[in-house]
Amino acid sequence: MRTPFISGNWKMNLDRAGARGLAAAVAQHAARGVDVALFPPAVYLDEVVRAVAGSRVQVGGQNCCDEASGAFTGEISTAMLADVGARLVLIGHSERRHVYGESDELIQRKVARALGDGLHAMLCVGETLDERDGGRTEEVVARQLTSGLRGVARASLASLTIAYEPVWAIGTGRTASPAQAGEVHRYTRGVLAGLYDREVAESLRILYGGSVKADNAAELLAVPDIDGALVGGASLRADLFLPIIDAAQRTHSA
Ligand code: PEP
Repeated sequence: MRTPFISGNWKMNLDRAGARGLAAAVAQHAARGVDVALFPPAVYLDEVVRAVAGSRVQVGGQNCCDEASGAFTGEISTAMLADVGARLVLIGHSERRHVYGESDELIQRKVARALGDGLHAMLCVGETLDERDGGRTEEVVARQLTSGLRGVARASLASLTIAYEPVWAIGTGRTASPAQAGEVHRYTRGVLAGLYDREVAESLRILYGGSVKADNAAELLAVPDIDGALVGGASLRADLFLPIIDAAQRTHSA
């Protein structure tokens, strides 16, 4: 049984007080039976880690450097994330891939670095609209998974979550239908079974991301291969995010 996992990617939003207040509200609400993670801007990690202390909410960085330390101006190392209490890190988010041009190879090195340094990696994959329209969704997802997991040992997969986020659904208000998302999640699990084995593929959580809101969360989370959500816009307000956690809890206890 895979525990549902709801996570909020705050991107470059909120200020210190807003981050503290929202984190505290999520921590207070986080329900048994649902794993919850928050990915605040790096400068507020410390604040958010303190605000959720003692709760079941985990905190993660939105990005990390593939190198351990040194002359990499503007970068944040996995050791620094861990040092301020982050336990997870997002890797390969579509904005990193498409706005900042991160390659499959760089993403693979970041996954290896994060896992090697004891962080839980949330590896994001997903196709652009052109790729979907061109019938290339499966090819793209398979390539991103195969490349991102290159060299990752089976034993390390307990510290890994996959997020399927179709680029055309992120921040656009256009959500993949439960059927569309379910199809790619099933395919993703098949790719994982091919790269490792069926047991591992069944144990890994695959989250859906792309305009998840309170009013579409329940139907997406009801799809058997969708194990949770990576939420952007709707994670920025407690009144929008907490109902998504509730929806996951209802699905889990159904
Ligand atoms: C995201 O940034 O990962 C995301 C899914 O954003 P949104 O929910 O706003 O589409």
